[in-house]
Amino acid sequence: MGETVIPLADLRYAAPVPAIPAQPIAATGLLTDALGRPLRDLRISVTDRCNFRCSYCMPKEVFDRDYRFLPQASLLSFEEITRLARLFVGHGVQKIRLTGGEPLLRRGLESLVAQLAGLRTPDGAPLDLTLTTNGSVLAKKAAALKAAGLQRVTVSLDGLDDAVFRSMNDVGFPVAEVLDGIEAAHRVGLGPIKVNMVVKRGTNEQEIVPMARYFRERFDGRIVLRFIEFMDVGASNGWRMDEVLPSARVLAMLREHWPLEPLDPTVAGETAERWRYADGGGEIGLISSVTQAFCRDCNRARLSTEGKLFLCLFATRGHDLRSLLRGGASDADITSALAAVWAGRDDRYSELRAAQPPGAAGSARRVEMHYIGG
Ligand code: SF4
Repeated sequence: MGETVIPLADLRYAAPVPAIPAQPIAATGLLTDALGRPLRDLRISVTDRCNFRCSYCMPKEVFDRDYRFLPQASLLSFEEITRLARLFVGHGVQKIRLTGGEPLLRRGLESLVAQLAGLRTPDGAPLDLTLTTNGSVLAKKAAALKAAGLQRVTVSLDGLDDAVFRSMNDVGFPVAEVLDGIEAAHRVGLGPIKVNMVVKRGTNEQEIVPMARYFRERFDGRIVLRFIEFMDVGASNGWRMDEVLPSARVLAMLREHWPLEPLDPTVAGETAERWRYADGGGEIGLISSVTQAFCRDCNRARLSTEGKLFLCLFATRGHDLRSLLRGGASDADITSALAAVWAGRDDRYSELRAAQPPGAAGSARRVEMHYIGG
């Protein structure tokens, strides 16, 4: 009987250890990449596991019972995550989003939230601390997350119809429990709440208008519903262009029911194009990575659950920060290494995809979304 080998590092994604520059690079908060984009938004994946099997992210056929998720020992501890986050904040990060997999599956997450909530920007301001969840356990966790210092949440919800929702999450999870989670988050003040709906042509576009109506009426427009184009993330979701419903089509469908007016972005680098109902019924967003790329002011870095830094959602390789952390590197060394990595960043996958014929986006294996967070 052969020995079972449990990998301590996910070798599926190459991740060299960043070099520590000979000349130290201090944290000024003004770091920009090779395209002049600042580092403002850090997405931290705290687990690669999820209790859903959404076909556009973790299709069941690939992420089946034999799939090897990362062992606990390879995950960054909360102290390691907080140390890295503090160094990123020194370079200009003002917003931290906790993601996964499903972040609420990581035990004791509230204590990480409390540690991160204690961080301050170089000029003493608190961070914008948020979290993206599938809402499955939000009803139970909302109050504790709020008490720990979480400011707001984004909930993924791909349909209101129970049968459609169960087929989209592919584990038969009932929509009612996610709606209860949104109610609970609203009740404890984890807002402004955003709800993200991934639209897949031929699967759930019939849910667009019912979702819009529900969130207009149920929360007096205080919840922002965003529609996300189906993306070719990772290498497992069988993406096809003909299953993408362009955001322009989504907007047209909504306008058949309600007058909508454009709104300016709230912050530079915002992924959603904002629209408001002319009758004051609230706001919606369109996230159009496929048909309207927004790479020109992308200020997002992503940290995988085992400490690899990825510079783009569609990256094919990362940078191994955990080895620096566990190899005894000082804060100053890691700060310099981070600066050098970001300064060399020129990622703009969505722009390049748009400029190339379909399918010509290169064969290199892209990192999976469940591993680095959306
Ligand atoms: S494709 Fe990459 S560079 Fe472009 S917006 Fe998305 S994460 Fe940023």
